[in-house]
Amino acid sequence: MQVLAVASEAYPLIKTGGLADVVGALPPALARQGVNVRTLIPGYSQVRQHVTGSPLHRFQNLLGATADLYAARVGEVDFLVLDAPALYDRAGGPYGDAAGRDFEDNWLRFAILSRAGAEIARGALPNWQPELVHAHDWQAALTPSYMRYGAISQPSIVTIHNIAFQGHFPADVFGALGFPAEAFSLDGVEYFGGVGFLKAGLRHAHAITTVSPTYAREICTPAFGMGLEGLISARIKVLSGIVNGIDTDTWDPAGDPHLSAGFSQRRLKGRRVNREAVEERYGLDADERPIFCVISRLTWQKGMDVLAAAADALVAAGGKLAVLGTGEPQLERTFMSLSARYRGRVGVVVGYDEALAHLLQGGADAIIIPSRFEPCGLTQLYGLRYGCVPIVSRTGGLADTVIDANLAALGAGVATGLQFSPVDAQALTYALQRAIALFHDRDVWATMQRQGMKADVSWDSSALRYAALYASLADGATA
Ligand code: ADP
Repeated sequence: MQVLAVASEAYPLIKTGGLADVVGALPPALARQGVNVRTLIPGYSQVRQHVTGSPLHRFQNLLGATADLYAARVGEVDFLVLDAPALYDRAGGPYGDAAGRDFEDNWLRFAILSRAGAEIARGALPNWQPELVHAHDWQAALTPSYMRYGAISQPSIVTIHNIAFQGHFPADVFGALGFPAEAFSLDGVEYFGGVGFLKAGLRHAHAITTVSPTYAREICTPAFGMGLEGLISARIKVLSGIVNGIDTDTWDPAGDPHLSAGFSQRRLKGRRVNREAVEERYGLDADERPIFCVISRLTWQKGMDVLAAAADALVAAGGKLAVLGTGEPQLERTFMSLSARYRGRVGVVVGYDEALAHLLQGGADAIIIPSRFEPCGLTQLYGLRYGCVPIVSRTGGLADTVIDANLAALGAGVATGLQFSPVDAQALTYALQRAIALFHDRDVWATMQRQGMKADVSWDSSALRYAALYASLADGATA
């Protein structure tokens, strides 16, 4: 099967979040299922450098702009690079300048991307035409709308990676988007008096997915849907959740170059060496108290204020805390003052440090993830793979990937972590106390670690689900 993916970022070319990981990792996993994906991406400067050869196609008029389309193979992914330097080849990131301000013409930059996607679906390329189009997040979400109004009939999917970002623009951009006048309506691209890119895609795609089954349910509610819950609920029949995988080569405890010692499910011993390295790096007392780690943006979404509020209780209950993160300055200060107050028990590194993230997963006993919402989440998956027991709030992908150590699960030996709810200091404290009690029962804890390490967190099982969805849409079963 031939699929066109449309996205605004893809690892390893350009990444600001989990979206890029999915877009970069899914095509090779889908290839193993017999699905051939080509991924359309804007020609940012970081992307252009991979382009060689002559263009496959020249778009003479994409909403008034000309753009060349190049092929680029990077790793195992086939990219189609939309080269329009005036729009994409800029200093800064994919969405804004170096100071973090969004580009003012983002509506045009990503409408053109989507328009190009629709034209490729129509048959712009001489030798290749997709049987299905998969658009990721708001930046690509007009693709199904252009297909719909352009009478381009292949099935389309929109995947929501984080519904907080919707691409909502004032009504006066509508005229430049190239839609017929009737598209400015409830059934079209209109959204709260303006133009909603994600809204439009959710309205017109044949199927909607998001990155976990629980998040799929949550975004049908006002608490999580951020205004789109009504539309999504109305389309619940075509909505599904497919959990992300992780890169099991980069995250492999047996061969991870960032660890002091490798280890595996059968031989957990190496963890001790890593544990000592964590204690040393964080200035924590070298003792048998459990080390809880955090690897996170320090933000409200991630529940970091809740963790800070539970820190006294964590220390009182006999735990140690190692924090790695950057984010809101107030939270950074709070954690720094906790480390000053509890020398030897709380250590904090403010910064982004990939190597240290690996060491923490390989040496800490547990990882705390108290997110208020979490579409999928990656750090709990790394934790499972590294025997770093995840302690998570019961939301989104966290709820779907961690099996809580309740009595039944412990009895059956299937628990992989702890869940708590609601997201407040009291519930988190209780979960931490439970974890500390379990930690001191060595066999129980080791069983939990091994169960987690056995969990399938690879892209292969996710790719199977996407491939099944593609096949059902191509058969017309879901449309
Ligand atoms: P989100 O994308 O919402 O931040 P995820 O859990 O999906 O949350 O992904 C976060 C990714 O960023 C993980 O790979 C995690 O290891 C990494 N990460 C977050 N903070 C840091 C940090 N301070 N240092 C190193 N890696 C970090």
